[in-house]
Amino acid sequence: MKRIYLDHNATTPVHPEVADEVCRCLREDFGNAGTLYSYGREAKKLVDDAREMIASVIGAKREEILFTSGGTESDNMAVRGVAYGNINKGRHLITSTIEHHAILETCKALEKEGFEVTYLPVDEYGTIKLDELKNAIRPDTTLITIMHANNETGTIQPVSEIGRIAREKGVAFHTDTVQTYGKLKINVDEMNIDLLSVSAHKLHGPKGVGALYMRKGVRMKPVMFGGHQERKMRPGTHNMPGIAGLGKAAEIASRDMQVEGERLLKLRERLWEGIKANIPHIRLNGHPTERLNNTLNVSFEFVEGESLILSLDDLGICVASGSACTSDSLEPSHVLLAMGCVPEVAHGSLRFSLGRGNTEDEIDLVIQALPKVVERMRSMSPLYREFLKKQGK
Ligand SMILES: *Cc1c(COP(=O)(O)O)cnc(C)c1O
Repeated sequence: MKRIYLDHNATTPVHPEVADEVCRCLREDFGNAGTLYSYGREAKKLVDDAREMIASVIGAKREEILFTSGGTESDNMAVRGVAYGNINKGRHLITSTIEHHAILETCKALEKEGFEVTYLPVDEYGTIKLDELKNAIRPDTTLITIMHANNETGTIQPVSEIGRIAREKGVAFHTDTVQTYGKLKINVDEMNIDLLSVSAHKLHGPKGVGALYMRKGVRMKPVMFGGHQERKMRPGTHNMPGIAGLGKAAEIASRDMQVEGERLLKLRERLWEGIKANIPHIRLNGHPTERLNNTLNVSFEFVEGESLILSLDDLGICVASGSACTSDSLEPSHVLLAMGCVPEVAHGSLRFSLGRGNTEDEIDLVIQALPKVVERMRSMSPLYREFLKKQGK
């Protein structure tokens, strides 16, 4: 059976050109970038070239990019590093209720260590309010960390405005751009971003490698200790194939950003129109327009998201409920709850996230299959029967 993969916000297939580069690096570039002889110099050049590439996508300088093991580590490093590095100024951080767990759990851990964290609420579309951000800033605030686009709903935050506010108040601004790097235009200077997280496997690169942009002059303490790599902020011998792969993935993503973005938007709207026309009692989660081109999150009333996923999987269609991170628990998505979604409706939500390989034919197959699956599940739901009775049907 040919499978249809619609879960690109969880991870993406590695682009063939990236896979070639990773393999080439594994075979040919075994040097340690910290050594002086030719093998080491060649390795260093490869790391520097990737660094240059990754920096250029966001208008940063090469030396402001640090390689990490992925989005989670970049988020941890940014939040902890700035929190610890500015203790003399204060111990207050600001984030939002809809961040990725890599941010939320780090903040919770810091709270146990005596830091204070303000979690900004979001509106029904999942957007923070700028006034509430302004009001939350205190003299002892050292970091604002707000994601660029949410991985579950795709809602895009007003990052430029957040950056302007942070800069005016002299507070460092970190943004998790794992879902937007290489997809949306980002310029760290124009948007006043001080720190930014990237993960390769969300942009058709390999897993286990990422980057942290750290503006020159931002005060940060290292959270790991060892060698002198990565400005001593992230010591350890470089993950050469991973870094080469991330560089290649960044190059391809930025090269194709415009075309691919428009293509995905068309596919996403085709999917949404198809669902809307054929399935009643649904609602769109996320902002109607300020949203990632590839992401569609829909609640299907009177349906269990988990059962829906398994039925679709039987047909070869791979989608997510809530978020990949909560797929092994029955907790409804913290993002949907924060947007005011009631738990029953949050439970019946699916996230479709499109990517490079997806075609119009695939979308049409999903539009054909989904109504039947939803209808079958609803027919087994006592709640749905009761609802129909009340409606006099
Ligand atoms: C996937 C994801 C992460 C975590 O990245 P990893 O490289 O898997 O650790 C962080 N933030 C967001 C928004 C993500 O989507």
